[in-house]
This record gives sequence, structure tokens and C-alpha cells, in this order.
Amino acid sequence: MRRVYLDNNATTPLAPEVFEAMKPYLLEDFGNASSIHWFGQQAKNAVEKARQQVAKLINARPGEVIFTSGGTESDNAAIFGIVQAARVEAPHVITTGIEHHAVLHTAQALEKKGVSVTYVTVGASGVVDPEDVKRAIRPETALISIMHANNEIGTVQPLEEIGTIARERDIYFHSDAVQAVGKIPVDVEKLGLDLLSLSAHKLNGPKGVGAMYIRRGTILKPLLYGGHHERDRRPGTENVPGIVGLGMAAELALTHLEENAQRVANLRDRLECGILERVAQVSVNGDPQRRLPNTSNLVLDYVEGEGFVIAMDLKGIACSTGAACSSGSVEPSHVLSAIGRTPEQARSSIRLSLGPYTAAEDIDATLEALPAVVERLRSLSPHWTKGKGLGAGG
Ligand code: PLP
Repeated sequence: MRRVYLDNNATTPLAPEVFEAMKPYLLEDFGNASSIHWFGQQAKNAVEKARQQVAKLINARPGEVIFTSGGTESDNAAIFGIVQAARVEAPHVITTGIEHHAVLHTAQALEKKGVSVTYVTVGASGVVDPEDVKRAIRPETALISIMHANNEIGTVQPLEEIGTIARERDIYFHSDAVQAVGKIPVDVEKLGLDLLSLSAHKLNGPKGVGAMYIRRGTILKPLLYGGHHERDRRPGTENVPGIVGLGMAAELALTHLEENAQRVANLRDRLECGILERVAQVSVNGDPQRRLPNTSNLVLDYVEGEGFVIAMDLKGIACSTGAACSSGSVEPSHVLSAIGRTPEQARSSIRLSLGPYTAAEDIDATLEALPAVVERLRSLSPHWTKGKGLGAGG
């Protein structure tokens, strides 16, 4: 059976070039980057090369890039770090209601410690209005943290405008750019960012490694305490093979950014248009223009999302729902709720996310399998009244 992978926002396959670059650092060049002997220096040079590769991808200086264990750690370190170092007595944070849990749960943890947090809302577009961010600013606002691209619906936020606002008011500006880096151009100078989070496994690099951009002069407390690694910003023996992999993934992403984005967008559009043509009562979640080139999130009225994912998997096609499972019950996704979808619509939403290795044949196979899967699942729905044009939840 041909296996089709359309879940690249969850994770991506390792690029063969990345694997080749990592191999020596898993075998013969195994040194600790802090050691002064030859083995250590091999490792250190590799880490510094990766730092340059990552810096180049986001237009930062190498000294402003710190390696971490991934997106989650970078988000935690940025948010806790800024708030804990804030000079005001009762700091205030601005974020959005559509952030990844790595940001949302961090903000909620801060609230429990007495920090006040404003969650800026988004409309049906899934795009933040910079004016809402401006209105939320208080004298004690220490940080604005707004994701670059949403992991569920792919919408891209107006960071440049928000960066200008943050700069004018002298407020630190962080972005969880885990889903944007490697897919669309990310330039920390143009966007006016002070901090940014990225993760290797979302750009055909290895899992368990990421990076954090920290603008020179930014004052933040470290999340972890230990040795003097990473300019005292993040202690712990460097994950040299992982860091080398991230560096190579960053270089590859930068080299092929435009061509990959164009090719993937064409495939995504063919997939989405093909579904809309073949299946009735389907709608797109979020602004169809302002979104990542690889992501399509659709409401398939009267189709139970989990059932859809399982049925597609049986046909060899991997995708995901817009809903996260928690303790046996399917909670509607906070992102889909935030854009105004009903719980029924959220539970009928699916996410198809492509990557540089998605082939035209993968799209053909998906378009071939999907209509029958939808039809079968709808026939099982007591609410499905074919041809009557009822919206989900009716
Ligand atoms: N932020 C966003 C937007 C993500 O999509 C993810 C991963 O799903 C993360 C953060 C967490 O990254 P990691 O898996 O590297 O911890």
C-alpha cells in the first residue's frame, strides 16, 4: 500500500542530507563541546557552524542564537525568562487565544503566580488585529508573545505591524515561529522581534532540538540552572548531533525556501480545490489567503474528525483532526473555538499539512480516497441529510 504523509505540522521526515550531516557526531566525533581537547573542539566547531546556519535562516547574528531541546522549551524560556526579569512589580503579558499550548499553558502558569495576561481574540479569519494588541498595552506590559503561524489552521499573523507597536512602546516582543521557520521567510529584524522560538523537527530536522533567538541586550532569567553553556543562557551539555542536524535543516530550508513554498502551495491548492469540487458541504477554517503554503484545515460537515483520520489511515493516508484528545473525550480545539466554529464544526474539522517531500501522486491518492470516506462517515451520521444544505450542528 502506498503511504501518504499529510501531517507535516505534527512532525516532518528527516532530510537525508540532515541524517548524513549528523552521523559523524553520533559516531567518531562524539566529543563534549566544552572539552578543550581535539574531540571537544570538533564538537564545538560543529555547534558554532550550526549556530551560523540557524542565524542566517532568520537574519540574526550567530551570538543571538541559543540551542534548546525544542519549541516547547524555547517558548517557556522566553516567556518565563522575560517576566521573571521584568523590573515592574506586577508584570502584564499580552498573547493570543490561538497559541500552541507551549505558550498558552506557560501563560496560564504565570497567571497562577499572579501575573496578569491578556489573551487577544481573533475573528473568523484567525488573524490578530494589531490594533487589538495596541489597545491591550498597559504601563506594566513586559511582554507581547504572538505566534508567527498557527499550527492548526496555518494563519500567518501580522508580526511586522505588531513589532512596530512593541518597539514604539519599548515592550519585549516574542514569537513562537515553530510552524513558520523553514516554510515562509522569517526575518527577526524586519519583524521587530526580540525573541523567537523554533524547532528542528518541523523543518525536516531531528526531534528534541530547537533554538531560541534572543536579541543582543535582552534581559531575561534562564529557565534552567547549571553550567556555563550557551553564553550562560541555557546550561547542559549540547546535543551536538541534534544541533548539527538543525543547522543542516536550516541551511536546506533557506536554500530551497521559495521553490518549496511555491511547489507545496500549488499542491495544497490542488488538494483543497479538488476536495471542494468533489465533496459537498466543506469549508475552509481561517483566512485562505494569509496562511502557510502547506496547510489546509477543513470542516467536513457531519463527518466525525477522529473517525475520518482512522478511515484515511486504513487507506494509507496520514492526516489529523483539528481537535486534541484529552482523557478519552474529544475536546473541541481551542483554535477552532476561537475562530467561532461550533463544537460540532470543530469536531468535523481535519488538517492536511504538506511538506517538501509531498509528491503529486500523494495528492492524487488523497483525492481518490477522500470522497468515499466522507460519504461513508456521513451515512453513519444521524444528522446528515444529504442535499438539504444543513450546516454542521443542525
Ligand atoms: N509551537 C508550535 C506552534 C508548534 O506547532 C509546536 C509543535 O507542535 C511547538 C510549539 C512545540 O515544539 P516542540 O515539539 O519542538 O516542543
